[in-house]
Amino acid sequence: MNDKKPFIYVDHAATTRISDSVRAAMEPYLTTAFGNASAAYGAGRAASRAILAARRRIASVLGCLPKEIYFTSGGTESDNWAIKGTAFAHRLQGHIACSAIEHHAVLHSMRFVGQMGMQTSVIPANAEGIVTPDAVDAAMRDDTHLAAVMLANNEIGTVQPIPDIADTVHEHGAVLLCDAVQGMGQIPVDIPTLGADMLALSGHKIGAPKGIGLLYVREGTPLLPLLDGGGQEMHLRAGTENTAAIVGLAQAIEEAAQLPAVDHLRHLQKQLFDGLRAIPGCVVNGTTETDHRLPGNVNVSFPGLDAESLVLHLDRLGICCSAASACTAGVSEPSHVLLAIGRDRAAATASLRFSLGAENTVEEMDAIVCGVRRIVTQLYETQCTFRGI
Ligand code: PLP
Repeated sequence: MNDKKPFIYVDHAATTRISDSVRAAMEPYLTTAFGNASAAYGAGRAASRAILAARRRIASVLGCLPKEIYFTSGGTESDNWAIKGTAFAHRLQGHIACSAIEHHAVLHSMRFVGQMGMQTSVIPANAEGIVTPDAVDAAMRDDTHLAAVMLANNEIGTVQPIPDIADTVHEHGAVLLCDAVQGMGQIPVDIPTLGADMLALSGHKIGAPKGIGLLYVREGTPLLPLLDGGGQEMHLRAGTENTAAIVGLAQAIEEAAQLPAVDHLRHLQKQLFDGLRAIPGCVVNGTTETDHRLPGNVNVSFPGLDAESLVLHLDRLGICCSAASACTAGVSEPSHVLLAIGRDRAAATASLRFSLGAENTVEEMDAIVCGVRRIVTQLYETQCTFRGI
């Protein structure tokens, strides 16, 4: 990397670096205590004890029973398992629903079970990026087995009213899957308060390694395994346990539950929103009411510009952020979340997400605003020249 170029990392919703404390907690299980947790000898029993301790620590933080925590390879697997495992438990009969702004791990799993014969439907979000309990109520049917509504959206950071949604789903006799991958560390994740029956978390968003996560499954919830093999994870998720990553996940969840940087993030978020809003053409995506938005999320569009090229221009300035839209064959596809909240195609292909972390600074926010202003102004001017305006 060029030494002179700054490195401003504002893509914490994409991934985070492993924290020092998590790395230290994992270290023994990567080096000396590497036994297979299924082995009967001492080294195996030590790994098995470490996993049990991690399960207990996590359950105590989340407010559930240790046996209701199942370790997985991350958020994607947890979401896939919850949806496909529920559909299989009901032999692909009946109906499931999910919100229009879910992660693709949920949306594409729902599409898959739909292709296999299950009835599916999509619950709309409003223009602010909120899925209301009324919208959930309207989507429920007598044969609905599961509804999936995320805790916080990964693109626009909007926080959903999960406790009320859980009540609505339960009134219809169905179970609620809550993808809490983006909420952990920024807002409380307490299972009794949320009322979800299944809840997905991912390690690498909160300072643990990539490839580890969990699915909470309330005792008694109908769910078949996706992975068959050994008897690990109470016979519901086969595969040799990743002891070091599981220990790291427990450490990261304990730390994230303290909500370590919320005030700092809110301060930076306001600074960044204020600065970006003042740039001509800027449109803010999702509600900015603090009760309904993650403290570390800033998402704006510059309609008419291409998000992917904005990201590359910012990268040249050493700023790492995300385009919500997907880039296929060099062309930006509109973000499904922005389309779902009513943005037109021009705005939905032109959004930037800045996701802030504890280590970001006021000076970095100034640099981002300055960089975005320069790039956006130049690109709009080039467009005008090109069109002869
Ligand atoms: N769910 C949400 C809301 C996410 O933001 C992500 C990742 O960005 C995932 C699921 C997938 O998690 P993982 O990367 O651990 O598979």
